Amino acid sequence: MNPETGLSFPDAHAEASALDAADPLRAHRDAFVGSEAPLVYFDGNSLGRPLRESVEGLAVFVREEWGGRLIRGWDEQWMALPFALGDRIGAAALGAAPGQTVVGDSTTVLLYKLVRAAFDAAQAADPARVEIVVDRDNFPTDRYLVEGIAAERGGDVRWIDVDLDAGVTADALSAAVGPQTALVLLSHVAYRSGYMADAAALTAIAHAAGALIVWDLCHSVGAVEVQADRWEFDLAVGCTYKYLNGGPGSPAFAYVATRHQETLSQPIHGWMGAADVFAMGPEYTPAVGMRRFLSGTPPITAMVALRDMVARVEDVGIGPIREKSVALTEFAIRLADAWLAPLGVTVASPRDPAFRGGHVTLAHPRMREVTAALWEQDVIPDYRDPGGLRIGLSPLSTSFAEVADGTAKVAAALRAVG
Ligand SMILES: *Cc1c(COP(=O)(O)O)cnc(C)c1O
Repeated sequence: MNPETGLSFPDAHAEASALDAADPLRAHRDAFVGSEAPLVYFDGNSLGRPLRESVEGLAVFVREEWGGRLIRGWDEQWMALPFALGDRIGAAALGAAPGQTVVGDSTTVLLYKLVRAAFDAAQAADPARVEIVVDRDNFPTDRYLVEGIAAERGGDVRWIDVDLDAGVTADALSAAVGPQTALVLLSHVAYRSGYMADAAALTAIAHAAGALIVWDLCHSVGAVEVQADRWEFDLAVGCTYKYLNGGPGSPAFAYVATRHQETLSQPIHGWMGAADVFAMGPEYTPAVGMRRFLSGTPPITAMVALRDMVARVEDVGIGPIREKSVALTEFAIRLADAWLAPLGVTVASPRDPAFRGGHVTLAHPRMREVTAALWEQDVIPDYRDPGGLRIGLSPLSTSFAEVADGTAKVAAALRAVG
């Protein structure tokens, strides 16, 4: 029994059972492979579990679509799939009207293409706009690629310093942007702390400075509400193997607001992005609309499991998914306060759910060893320096009982490492 919270182990497990019994989305957990096992999965924010229907769905795809239709599959379905699936992700999870979202390359490659396109457009409109604004705690790929683009195009990177337990605030962004800003690249939900930025407010700040903004939605899509059109996003990219359960290496999506599609030119000119794909003409003319943001042949096989999860998100709706996500992270924080704070653990994520995405980071200097010990016991969180154990709570596949079991095992592992 913890004297301050009064929460004891048996009480917490009983409360977890009650929360599971009252959870309107509880039935979805059984739809995922492996959910019946005692394993505790706290890393659905890095790689979502597969849906059971994807096991058969992938076999059907190989047998019937690929094996049965062979090259005819391209005309019949696959040429259209990146756009059809993009529109479905847009409608179900991004607040994006049709014709603005495409599924294509990896997040890294799509970010490169969009950031470079945005930088070039900003420069063409006003050569004084030489800076790309990014925060020092953005995901490595985001930081590395803006440095590469700045070097390639003669631009500069303007860094925003952030609190590692939080993220980019309106004040911090306001101080960084101005007439020299070409574009801003930010993560909506920070991969380390889980901080969820006020994307509408930050977009307005970038626009007031005359700059474009590119949103990285990797830790947002499928877990939190995004209103790309209403919040006036310019460009966005996000992963599909995290909360959209597309499987390892499933392709990312790009969102480009309709108003920018004809003026942006991405740097990887490939045949799939050309105006007439099968004309095979002497030179590249970009397609009208989202096709110009593709380059080469899209990875159709890697969209099969993703399609299954997108259908489920369409059925459930992001509102209920986000409600469950908040309830899971609230419960995890209460357990951390009761069981882990006495062992020296601090919550390195925002306590206000309005500023928190789908994961909670728990900090302690021994968390690297704790994570290794937990993996041995089939409790799978992940670790991010400095001392951060990330608990990713994928809303449809995680139960409250799993949160209680896993957090109890974090406490036991911490005691064991001393
Ligand atoms: C996971 C993640 C990525 C990953 O990019 P890949 O090209 O899929 O490896 C990029 N940005 C953020 C913020 C992420 O969380």
